[in-house]
Amino acid sequence: MNNWDNIVGHSWAVEMIVSGLANDRLGHAYLITGPDQVGKTTLARTFAQALNCEAPEVERPCGHCRPCKLIAIDRHPDVKLVLPEVSGRGKLTLKIETIRQLQQDLNLSAYEARYKVAILERFDAATIGAANAFLKTLEEPPGKVVLLLTAIDADMLLPTISSRCRTLNLRPLPPDLIEQSLATRWQVQAEKATLLAHLADGRLGWAIQAAQDETILQTRAEHLSQLHSALAGRRAHRFALADKLSRKPETLPDVLKTWLSWWRDLTLLNQRRGQSINLILTNVDEIEHLEPLAASWTSEQINASLNQTNEALWQLERNANIRLVLENLLLVYPIPELA
Ligand SMILES: [Zn+2]
Repeated sequence: MNNWDNIVGHSWAVEMIVSGLANDRLGHAYLITGPDQVGKTTLARTFAQALNCEAPEVERPCGHCRPCKLIAIDRHPDVKLVLPEVSGRGKLTLKIETIRQLQQDLNLSAYEARYKVAILERFDAATIGAANAFLKTLEEPPGKVVLLLTAIDADMLLPTISSRCRTLNLRPLPPDLIEQSLATRWQVQAEKATLLAHLADGRLGWAIQAAQDETILQTRAEHLSQLHSALAGRRAHRFALADKLSRKPETLPDVLKTWLSWWRDLTLLNQRRGQSINLILTNVDEIEHLEPLAASWTSEQINASLNQTNEALWQLERNANIRLVLENLLLVYPIPELA
């Protein structure tokens, strides 16, 4: 029993790291990729613990010694967590000044650890300048330094960066594994664990956060009720809703992602029509809303709505006129028949 057991799934990645440690064949830089909240930083932290744990080798990382405890809360003097800055509309930027500061730190020898470790979260948010500055460290790393980069996708990095790292690509976890972990490790009640496991899209970190923070499910319920309200109303009602939503632009990516997952479920149900295939739906608690609509709307209507929701998300990321984007979107959604 050691701290690697806290990593749910991703066992091949753990094995790769453990065997590298055991055979003294460590890389000096690793790139851990995968969707948001799939467990990238948790894996990186546990790796840093394994590198600096004071327990006998087979028990590393123990999770109990001083280095393990300090690393778990990001307070170890030789293990730096480097985060990008968040600006308006949620955009992440990793700046060159941040990289320069880190490089100064890494050039000093370790205070107390065997290895200095830098965990650079979301390196895909690095500016070109920051990435190029960091390249020097990747090419000639100071001794006893291990660099752990995380990113959504290796393709979002400069090839000069990704080619100098060993890549560990973490895949989304299956819903049943998330459900089981929520129930056994985090004592989440069964029905809630099932719902969160489906909503999580393979991201255990998201599911844990949503289990602990009620506002996440409440916010989702609001987003869905806005969608239901839009779908029940006609043009004037939809324009009013577009106006209301456009006043809170920071919430829109979340709103649209919730709607997108709902339309995706509807597409699946519509395609299945008449056949008994087992579907993995996201919004399992919406099935009573979804099933009659999947039967009454055409696949063209549903596909057009799904595509336009995707398009709206894309346009908002590119600073399009928010109200216009929402009006266009809501006019593509099917209008109820006049009674
Ligand atoms: Zn330890």
